[in-house]
Amino acid sequence: MTGPSAAGPATDRPDIPPSLAARPHDARRGLPIPPVNIHPDPTGGGSHVDFTTINTTTSTRLAVERRCSLCGEPMGYWVAFLGGSRAAELMRYADPPGHPECMSAALSLCPHLALGRHRRARADRPGAGIIPPGSHGDKPDRYLLGITRAYRTRFIPEHGFTVYLPAPFKTVRAYAYGLEGQLHPATDTR
Ligand SMILES: [Zn+2]
Repeated sequence: MTGPSAAGPATDRPDIPPSLAARPHDARRGLPIPPVNIHPDPTGGGSHVDFTTINTTTSTRLAVERRCSLCGEPMGYWVAFLGGSRAAELMRYADPPGHPECMSAALSLCPHLALGRHRRARADRPGAGIIPPGSHGDKPDRYLLGITRAYRTRFIPEHGFTVYLPAPFKTVRAYAYGLEGQLHPATDTR
C-alpha cells in the first residue's frame, strides 16, 4: 500500500507553498518534514522523524513565536487551525496553527489526514491516555480549517501539553471524506 508513488516527489506538485517545499523531505514518501515531526532520540544524540506524533516542545515554541508548525516560517496576518467540529465548537485546539496555505496543503499531503482509514497514533504521544480538551480521541469524519488573525497559546503543566485558543474565525472551510475515503472540500460547515 505504501509502494513508490506515481505522483513523484512532492516538490513537483503545484499546490505546495514554497516555504513547505523548502523543508527537508522524507526519503521514503517524498513528503516535506514539518519541524514538529522531528523528535530527539531517547539516547540523546540524534533525531528521528515521526509523522504521527507532534514534538510538543517544538510546536509550543513555534506557536509562541507565531511561526507555522508545518514550515517553521513566520506567519503573517492570517493563521489557520485544523480540527474536527468539536474543536471548532469549543474554540480549543490540541494541534498548533500554521499558514492557511500550508494547512490546506497538509490536507492533501499528509497520509494521516488525506485517507479516511488512517488513524493518528495518539497512544505514542506524551501523556498517552489523556485526551486533550478540545481534541477528539478518534479521527473526525470531517475537518474544519478555521482562519483567524490571533490566538493564545496555553501550556497546561499538569497534563504536559499545550492548547491553542484562536480568536473567532473569519473563514471556515470544511472538508469531508467521500465514499472512496479521500478528503475533499465540503459545501457546508456543519
Ligand atoms: Zn507554513
